Amino acid sequence: MGIDKMKIMKFGGSSIENPERIKSVMEIIKKSKSENNNIAVVFSAFGGVTDELIKISKMAAVRNNDYVDLLDQLEKRHFEAVDKLIGVKKRSGVLTKIKVMINELADVFHGVYLVKELTAKTLDFILSFGENLSCTIITEALKNRDVPVNFMDSRPIIKTDESFGNARVDKTRSFQNIKNHFSNQPAIQIITGFAGSTDKDETTTLGRGGSDLTASLIAAALGASELEIWTDVNGVLSADPGKVERAFSISEMTFDEAMEMSHFGAKVIYPPTIQPALEEKIPIRIKNTFQPDFTGTVIRENQLVESNWLIKGISSMEDVSLLRIQGSGMVGIAGIAARLFGALAKEKINIILITQASSEHSICFAVKPGDAKDAKKAIEDEFSLEMQAHLVDEIIVENELSIVAIVGENMRNTPGIASKLFVALGNSEVNIVAIAQGSSELNISVVMSQKDEKKALNAIHEKFFDI
Ligand code: ADP
Ligand code: ASP
Ligand code: MG
Repeated sequence: MGIDKMKIMKFGGSSIENPERIKSVMEIIKKSKSENNNIAVVFSAFGGVTDELIKISKMAAVRNNDYVDLLDQLEKRHFEAVDKLIGVKKRSGVLTKIKVMINELADVFHGVYLVKELTAKTLDFILSFGENLSCTIITEALKNRDVPVNFMDSRPIIKTDESFGNARVDKTRSFQNIKNHFSNQPAIQIITGFAGSTDKDETTTLGRGGSDLTASLIAAALGASELEIWTDVNGVLSADPGKVERAFSISEMTFDEAMEMSHFGAKVIYPPTIQPALEEKIPIRIKNTFQPDFTGTVIRENQLVESNWLIKGISSMEDVSLLRIQGSGMVGIAGIAARLFGALAKEKINIILITQASSEHSICFAVKPGDAKDAKKAIEDEFSLEMQAHLVDEIIVENELSIVAIVGENMRNTPGIASKLFVALGNSEVNIVAIAQGSSELNISVVMSQKDEKKALNAIHEKFFDI
């Protein structure tokens, strides 16, 4: 099989939540195979399994004996999938494989239970079972339907650093491994998403939602013609469908727009996914497993059709904390921002949004609530002298906030967008805590109280998309 013009498909947990859904997915794969010989397929764990594995791990770590029941349920769920998807003759062999994996998991959980400690490294090893279990079953189910497939464990292929839980990929080595692997594999590869391994061959994971990235890396390494991400909605929608009932499917987006949407919370696509595809200019298509004939959303470098709307979509990130550093000693002094962000970078704290008023009296930035405490401490350490001298005030932390962002290339150089946004928010009495606009003018972000988020999203949606 040549490695050019491949299509990489990825099915998320929501597409393989139960055996019925897996059957539909297998039909989609068979159809794609009949239309295009060259496909490879990445899978997540069955829907909810990663969350369940995290829960079981945490229970074992505090010696909550109920973890055993949850593991039994997980085993049962996978056994049932085998029963429903694989013919009687082949079944026992597959059940044995699954049993061996579950036994290994049980051993690891027992270890966690004994030492009462769950390290990030152990958790990554545990989580990788989710994708290994789903892919083992699906590979066998496809073989059972005479589809020529081969199970591919992505761990030895995707090489990463040692940031367990959110590992960064070594692209050069991973790309080489991917090319080598695919150079002599005639069957359709069924690939475990989400996992990788370090130099020492220890299992890592790429961050929640990371199967999208696995698929994108494979597409980029092989110069695929397209990356298809199959999920449970009709593509990227104009807003989170769980919060805005009237959200509709966006037919086309640029890479930049998709990056902004996903960065600010549209979890339909994992933000780092865009990068490898973008670098190789590989279009990404988001499709709905439950409505396979719907075209979905295509993400590519340039738009082919002019959009009718001023903005492309609205994304939202629920639950952020805002930290404010302010004080008379900050005005007109060079290097404050560099020290501030340097101190945060040293602690590996990810900053979601930054605003500084032109008075230079204060700088505000948003982080995930889990990082707020460390961020505050890092700043206090960095500016301890200024704080003692009252040049910098106490750091203020505000919690239970949300960020709502409007996104779109059409916003560039178009006046009146911000006022439209603020009119929508003002009319619905949403109080704005902070505002930021990227200099690329691709997004305007507004920080508000979490309780206002849904109201704000709907008001903005109505204002910008008068449908
Ligand atoms: P998968 O299991 O396929 O990886 P995810 O749950 O990670 O699926 O992502 C799909 C979900 O993302 C959708 O079900 C939807 O609830 C949510 N979502 C949030 N914002 C958006 C958006 N703007 N467009 C589409 N889906 C969104
Ligand atoms: N199973 C992993 C998760 O739930 C990876 C993924 O689904 O993309 O985060
Ligand atoms: Mg996902």
